[in-house]
Amino acid sequence: MIIQKQKAFEEIMSALEGEEKVFIFGCADCATACKTGGEDELAQMKQKLEEQGKQVTGTYVLDTACLSGEVRKRGKELKEQLDASDSVLVLACGTAVQTIGDGLEVIAHPGVDSLFIGNVVRLGKYVEKCSACGKCILEETGGICPVTRCAKGLMNGPCGGYSPDGKCEVDPEQDCAWLLIYERLRERGKLGWMETVKDPKDYSTVSSPRTLVWEHKKEAEDK
Ligand code: SF4
Ligand code: SF4
Repeated sequence: MIIQKQKAFEEIMSALEGEEKVFIFGCADCATACKTGGEDELAQMKQKLEEQGKQVTGTYVLDTACLSGEVRKRGKELKEQLDASDSVLVLACGTAVQTIGDGLEVIAHPGVDSLFIGNVVRLGKYVEKCSACGKCILEETGGICPVTRCAKGLMNGPCGGYSPDGKCEVDPEQDCAWLLIYERLRERGKLGWMETVKDPKDYSTVSSPRTLVWEHKKEAEDK
């Protein structure tokens, strides 16, 4: 899930300066789970914008706002309201903003800051466990990601900085990821994995922008 938080209302108002008519999109997926762009948040944003003299031409919570097909389909259904709008405010992740902006050829303002791919522990508590590095090594680390959960992203650890209570020297609120890995491997009788010195992380797999095209589909389309 893309963990996100809504921008300050002043920042949103500043982005909308000079625009009177605004349509608001949300997303039933991550944005609803993070309480940034579900039905309730769209209704609240509509009310706040109207109190500031904006005309809200409509609101719509897309099922999944990063799906081009869905965005185009809804865009056709909402054409009249969108045509009557100066711009669109998107209360969903940055991918959604661009999917909507590009797909519907509208000015799409981000109303949300996308933070990280996260695990929802419970409503209001979100934890980063994977940074989509493109080459997963969880098999060798007992299912605990050092790329993301070690503050230095070390491939061999722990460093010398962990505290006696097992916390990280960079952030004493966080457990040292490499101590967690050690304990996990010890429990599983796999400590031998720590004796192998791992190569430095190959960060060529995270150079942006990344794309993925299924080869079998591409071949079929090329025929
Ligand atoms: S190694 Fe870590 S960052 Fe990379 S894919 Fe696996 S969990 Fe994600
Ligand atoms: S103390 Fe542990 S988590 Fe923190 S930087 Fe060192 S190895 Fe990484």
